[in-house]
Order: sequence, then structure tokens, then C-alpha cells
Amino acid sequence: MAIIGRHRKDAPAATPEPPPAGMDLVESLPPITPATPADTGCWLGGVYGWHNTYRIIDTAIGRGMPITAEDEAALDMYRESGESIDDGWMVGEMAEEALTWLNENVAPPGHLFTWHEGDLMMWSEAQYCTASGDKCWCVEPHD
Ligand SMILES: [Zn+2]
Repeated sequence: MAIIGRHRKDAPAATPEPPPAGMDLVESLPPITPATPADTGCWLGGVYGWHNTYRIIDTAIGRGMPITAEDEAALDMYRESGESIDDGWMVGEMAEEALTWLNENVAPPGHLFTWHEGDLMMWSEAQYCTASGDKCWCVEPHD
């Protein structure tokens, strides 16, 4: 299920759309807490394997990502029983959405979150560019 009630930095704090019936957002979520360039580096170590699928969601929730009660229930089941649960695909999608949410709400300007060899990294664009080996599109020159 898609995460709803997503906040955007560039959007006014207008009245959020009410969640569909039966999909209430979990109450008392923490406020959105952006990272700073000092937080650059490894956020989740690849040594945790499949656990990082829920750990990135936990990380995003801890930084203020909204979550529905339905998603939270699937997340809790996954946390206890692993990716073989019926709703495992749902948690996989939530992990992708959490990465997008972290990039839109937590990464400071010129930085981004990305998976790299199993680690969740927050990198500057130059670090990302160097690691990816793709053609450089960076605004700032770098090695
Ligand atoms: Zn570059």
C-alpha cells in the first residue's frame, strides 16, 4: 500500500488528504528531521542483509515519514518473520518508497541516499558520481 500523507519541503503545510477508509495514519509520528552534510557516510551496513529492508523503513519513520497502520502491521510481521511472509513484496515496495522519501525529505542539498554494495549510504553528489563510474553531471568539479 502506498504511503500517504507524504510531506514535501516545497509544499505548504496544507490540509493533508484524508487517508482512505480503514487506512488511518499511525499517530504521533516524529517530526521530519533532515540530515546535514556531517551525516554523510554509511547509514546501514550491508552486514545486516535482508534486515536492511525494514531498517531503511524504520530509519525513514524515525525521521518523520508517515506510515499507515496497515503498513506498520506488515512491517512488524516482516521484522519478526522475514521476507517469506505473504506481504513481503509490500515491505519491499515500502523500502523503495522509504529511499525516495529520504532523498526528498532528509538528504541535504547536493547529497543523496543510495544503496551501494548492500550499504545504505548518504553521499555527496560527487561521491555518488565517483562510486557509480557513470558520466559526470555534477555542477561542482571534483576528482
Ligand atoms: Zn561528478
